[in-house]
Amino acid sequence: MSEKIHEVVIVGSGPAGYTAGIYAARAQLEPILYEGSVTAGGALMNTTEVENFPGFTDGVMGPDLMDSMRKQAKRFGTTLVTDDIVEMSLDGEIKVLVDGSGNTLKAKSVILATGSAYKEIGLENEKRLSGRGVSWCATCDGFFFREQVIAVVGGGDSAMEEATFLTKFASKVVVIHRRDTLRASKIMAERAQANPKIEFLWNTDVIDVLGADKVTGLKLRNTVDGTESERDFTGLFVAIGHLPRNELIKGQIELDAEGYVKVEGRSTRTNLKGVFACGDLVDHTYRQAITAAGSGCQAALDAQNFLMGH
Ligand code: NAP
Repeated sequence: MSEKIHEVVIVGSGPAGYTAGIYAARAQLEPILYEGSVTAGGALMNTTEVENFPGFTDGVMGPDLMDSMRKQAKRFGTTLVTDDIVEMSLDGEIKVLVDGSGNTLKAKSVILATGSAYKEIGLENEKRLSGRGVSWCATCDGFFFREQVIAVVGGGDSAMEEATFLTKFASKVVVIHRRDTLRASKIMAERAQANPKIEFLWNTDVIDVLGADKVTGLKLRNTVDGTESERDFTGLFVAIGHLPRNELIKGQIELDAEGYVKVEGRSTRTNLKGVFACGDLVDHTYRQAITAAGSGCQAALDAQNFLMGH
């Protein structure tokens, strides 16, 4: 174990983690930022064009935005580690963290920015056929579905974005939504609805994924009259939202009923002294790149204040 006691360790990248890094580094706190071994950059690495991040008149690609934030954090002296934190002990005055390579770190404060993970429908065959036609990432896997008929489940912005992107490859994309109204923002819903390659299947639940070793179709149930049917598809993209990534902190920090970290008022302070949380890990409501970045900034300022009081 290194005997050095760091001022602040940031766990997680994405707009929240990198922004926390930029602010903490500029405050001379010499932050160590664990980016994650496979998830570095967070959810925006799996997205295409971000049109609503202020400052980019013509939009910016999600991975490019993350790369810029990463470089900016590094430029001010954030130490970036492309590894996971696999264990954390957060309740003492000195926090102890263990990374994926077995290194143990000590810190006076910790900023949690682990984000969220894709939600699954929860079907046995969804898991079994994952990577064999079932996917959570159109930008990663869309290419494999050239000239095919594929389904996207969900009615939010993610589903609209995935469906619209997938029309580049697929001959047809069917959006399957459990209600008859979309949750998506107007602009994204209208764009998808105006796309001639996208069909909407309303009031429909996916109740099974069919196929022996790759997806061949879906079993569907009408949520109004309960009728069941089957339809052929060679791919299923699941875009039904996210769940907070709280595995490492469950049991040691206060979470709300849905598993998001509870923070004090408008701050990023958790119930544990010296532990701050930001980004999708705390946010039920907004979950935007810009709000995540903003809360990363708050977390760094809260940590800085806390450390000054020590
Ligand atoms: P979301 O807004 O929570 O929408 C999830 C959708 O999936 C809803 O339509 C929901 O149906 C449906 N759903 C949830 N659980 C389901 C289940 N078990 N079975 C079937 N359907 C289910 O999630 P999101 O679309 O991932 O968006 C999350 C946040 O990211 C939002 O704030 C969004 O604005 C933001 N986002 C922004 C952009 C962008 O601006 N470029 C792109 C992507 C995401 P109900 O509607 O019936 O609840």
